[in-house]
Amino acid sequence: MKKDDLITLKIEDLSSEGLGVGKCDGIAFFVKDTVIGDVVEAKVMKMKKTYGYARLMRLIEESPDRVEPPCPVTRQCGGCQIQAMRYQAQLAFKENKVRNNLRRIGGIENPPMEPIIGMDVFNVEDAVAGEKAPAGMEVLLGAKALADGVTPLRYRNKAQFPIGRSRDGRLIAGFYAGRTHTIIECLDCLLGSKVNAWILDAVLKHMEQYGIEPYDEKIGSGLVRHVMIRVGFRTGQIMVCLVVNGRSLPHSKELCATLAAISGMTSITLNSNLEKTNVIMGKDLKVLWGTEYIEDLIGDVRFRISPLSFYQVNPLQTQKLYEKVLEYSGLTGQETVWDLYCGIGTISLFLAQKARKVYGVELVPEAIRDAKQNAELNGITNAEFYVGRAEDVLPQKYAEEVQKKCTCETEKIVGEEQERAGERIRADVIVVDPPRKGCEESVLETMVQMQPQRIVYVSCDSATLARDLKYLGERGYEVQKVCPVDMFGNSVHCETVCLLSKLNIKQHIEVELTMDEMDLTAAEKKASYEEIKEYVLEKFGMKVSHLYIAQVKRKCGIIERENYNKPKSENAKQPQCLPEKEAAIIDALKHFQMI
Ligand code: SAH
Repeated sequence: MKKDDLITLKIEDLSSEGLGVGKCDGIAFFVKDTVIGDVVEAKVMKMKKTYGYARLMRLIEESPDRVEPPCPVTRQCGGCQIQAMRYQAQLAFKENKVRNNLRRIGGIENPPMEPIIGMDVFNVEDAVAGEKAPAGMEVLLGAKALADGVTPLRYRNKAQFPIGRSRDGRLIAGFYAGRTHTIIECLDCLLGSKVNAWILDAVLKHMEQYGIEPYDEKIGSGLVRHVMIRVGFRTGQIMVCLVVNGRSLPHSKELCATLAAISGMTSITLNSNLEKTNVIMGKDLKVLWGTEYIEDLIGDVRFRISPLSFYQVNPLQTQKLYEKVLEYSGLTGQETVWDLYCGIGTISLFLAQKARKVYGVELVPEAIRDAKQNAELNGITNAEFYVGRAEDVLPQKYAEEVQKKCTCETEKIVGEEQERAGERIRADVIVVDPPRKGCEESVLETMVQMQPQRIVYVSCDSATLARDLKYLGERGYEVQKVCPVDMFGNSVHCETVCLLSKLNIKQHIEVELTMDEMDLTAAEKKASYEEIKEYVLEKFGMKVSHLYIAQVKRKCGIIERENYNKPKSENAKQPQCLPEKEAAIIDALKHFQMI
């Protein structure tokens, strides 16, 4: 087979990027714009040793899962790879993709999967739940999709439109065609809000009127690069951020006056990005009109969102996602939770309502500023946030706390102060929600050292999720449940929530004992303070401090270090272990064969 040959293929599968896969003479061909079940005539474009790429020429037989894509530019635009597929089939494809990655990359033979949580084909007016729909958003789904009831549209609360010129020199806005930087003209993406088109139209007219040039990335000249728009679905507040290759926008007052007339307009900002880069947003931000942020709600929690902060793009599914995270976290109100890659603190604050304490870690300083304000806005006082890379902050905080704890031990600091020392080391639950590349190994390593009961991993890429689950699995964390959540209907992307638990410590220790029993000398039969605490908590439902364990150990004649945990002076007041706690600790010492 060679380039330009015409071949007939039956599409049997989809690649993870959404290309149809069919075989001809044992060679797999990838064909864009096809759906599982299609029989197609395709033209060979590129041949590799064991596979090839072909272009769809003619549909010989339509798959029963094929639907008419409601978007007129779906084939050119890179965004919706599987819009031509019935929504139920999209969900099945995503569920399968997650399962396969966990199997192939994660080595989990039978992933404990829950059914994927799909989107309801919704109506924007329902989405605003009785509140007044913002201007433009009452225009609903494409008629065909609505009639079929198959394809969820208009679910995205955010869009970033590149601005440029068409071949014939007109000012245009739209989306980059798949894998290129050619702009496909499209003011009204069917996944986004209808209001986007009005805003873009106003921006383009303004540029025309005042002779403002779009940015040309090839030569790095021109001014307007992107327009970013966000809509708070529950509040109806609208944000416009103009990203420019400069420090100001000519006649911005006039543009603001036009945009401010759109009902719901809340924030208009100017973002300067002077770099020759693919990264859309620059660091500098200036408010042109209104506030710097908009607000939105997830469940009962109100969030302030700045242009530079991450906020989930599908608010209805986000609520379902966070509810799953809450369920998997198994909170009773007593737990210390770490939320890594926390953004503006959405998961942290959602969980803080049910936890004792939540610590959030996030790279973007603006997001952490939002997170702190969001905690205040909602009267949440048990959440604390740190700016920095999770791979720096977590190991550093952990090391600091271990140090603090050691100091207490060597300086014989007792009582509450000792109890407090090392508080942050305690993590009952760690939630991670990293970007596509997953967690750095140093983050995973520290997580394992912290020994949480549960890890809840939220992932937007099941391949890197599977890689990280393998690492955690090899270190004692077992996958209990996996639930895909579809946040990005019509695209190949899928979010996944995964619950891991620490292998039952009791069983774990018993197994180790039976294996090593023969060699154990009495002196080696020692359990750590954490293991004793854990045992007592699990068996008797009681919390005991290191101090109490030390007191009981001393009573029983097992003293590890001279003066360990003894009061500084004989007269010093020290809390004394209550009899029932003493009995529980003695039981633990017996269990671990220390007495
Ligand atoms: N949990 C949040 C955000 C998830 S998106 C939510 O549901 O809204 C991932 C977040 O990780 C982004 O906010 C991004 O800025 C942040 N991030 C990316 N790399 C990071 C790193 N190395 N350390 C900490 N945060 C990081």
